[in-house]
Amino acid sequence: MSAPIVAIVGRPNVGKSTIFNRMAGERIAIVEDMPGVTRDRLYAPAEWLNYEFRMIDTGGIEIGDAPFLAEIRGQVELAIDEADVIVMVVSGREGLTEADEVVARMLYKSNKPVVLAVNKVDNPEMRQDIYDFYALGLGDPFPVSGSHGLGLGDLLDEVVKHFPDEAAEQEDEAIRFSIIGRPNVGKSSIVNAMLGEKRVIVSDIEGTTRDAIDTRFVTAEGDEFVMVDTAGMRKRGKIYENTEKYSVMRAMKAIDDSNVILMVIDAEAGIREQDKHVAGFAHEAGRAMVIVVNKWDAIEKNDHTMSDFENLIRDEFKFLDYAPIVFVSAKTGQRLDRLPQLVKDVDDNHRKRITSSTLNDVIMDAIAINPTPSDNGRRLRVYYATQVATQPPTFVIFVNDVELMHFSYERFLENKIREAFDFTGTPIKLIVRARK
Ligand code: GDP
Ligand code: GDP
Repeated sequence: MSAPIVAIVGRPNVGKSTIFNRMAGERIAIVEDMPGVTRDRLYAPAEWLNYEFRMIDTGGIEIGDAPFLAEIRGQVELAIDEADVIVMVVSGREGLTEADEVVARMLYKSNKPVVLAVNKVDNPEMRQDIYDFYALGLGDPFPVSGSHGLGLGDLLDEVVKHFPDEAAEQEDEAIRFSIIGRPNVGKSSIVNAMLGEKRVIVSDIEGTTRDAIDTRFVTAEGDEFVMVDTAGMRKRGKIYENTEKYSVMRAMKAIDDSNVILMVIDAEAGIREQDKHVAGFAHEAGRAMVIVVNKWDAIEKNDHTMSDFENLIRDEFKFLDYAPIVFVSAKTGQRLDRLPQLVKDVDDNHRKRITSSTLNDVIMDAIAINPTPSDNGRRLRVYYATQVATQPPTFVIFVNDVELMHFSYERFLENKIREAFDFTGTPIKLIVRARK
């Protein structure tokens, strides 16, 4: 289920982010519109032909105040560790530089498939300048122009040739979830405590190396889970590992690969901007979510500490009002045993299907209590509603005129749907359509 990862590497100013933005196309615009989500060039889902993949712009991961070459080395190391295919970008305008050679040598040794893009080849006359780059030993250079959008199709054709075989992927009943959160909130401690439970059986890591980052386990109840991306929390010590942007990128990738997200917040450190950023991404991606407040042992408590904390979370994450909150301690083990069942419950809700007849009964009852709005004498009429998708549950509501459906009324209908059916932990989507 994990989509292949394509990383873009190269020295600064060759045009990595320009190429990244071009390739990411429309999807990136959606992310930009999100409240709390900054326009980081960093990570984006992308498509080419029938392939879906994820892109990482390693230039977006700044490695503190590392000296110039050390910074590039760190970025290339990250690409080698994370990516299935690496696109190395050089500049046809500036020509071959020493920094390009450093990058190429690292890639050459890595045995990862590398596609070499010579950027800033803005017109056909410049194409002869690409031959120097054969010296890098990375095969045929592909001339492109990120700013003019030239040559990217040929480049992507080459990139997708190196994707791992789809055939290796099978149908899977297991619930895929990931544990995300800022560095030091206690993710690894929770992972280790969950997998260390006596009632849990961790199966051997099988299959391809790509699967090895995921951990499969079965609970005593017989429920099967795949914890996505656990390796990232276990292997430590790379220079890029502690940067905030790397942890955001890692979280975004894990969200894309999972159905359920356990978002961990540190009870001692509280909520930070980065938490909202990542939660916003998960919400927008339509994933189910549980909010886990960890280190509950570490703070002083009285009768209302828990409800105060809950109010704080509801206030900071207004768009996540559907996510259950659980207060745990990885240190003492308090309430950790609830996590598998919570993941399963929200996963069930995320996959839930409501029959049209029951759904329409609920909608018509709602309209009976709170009549539809009208504008200039024209009243909104709701004809029919039906569920068109799951994960997340998505409903289409057919009306006479889309303009007459106000946000507040849509919100009211969503609340009525949530009151009637248990959608705890999952976002739901309403799509309003005009019926002619
Ligand atoms: P990065 O540091 O590698 O991510 O590079 P950027 O994408 O930020 O681009 C560096 C500079 O090169 C910017 O001024 C871009 O406008 C410019 N640039 C990027 N792609 C092209 C291109 O295809 N042709 C030309 N002429 N300039 C480009
Ligand atoms: P990660 O970076 O999110 O994976 O966080 P770690 O699991 O490495 O934990 C970071 C630090 O918090 C470590 O020193 C842990 O011992 C500590 N820690 C983790 N969970 C708890 C907890 O429930 N209570 C307390 N008091 N400390 C914790």
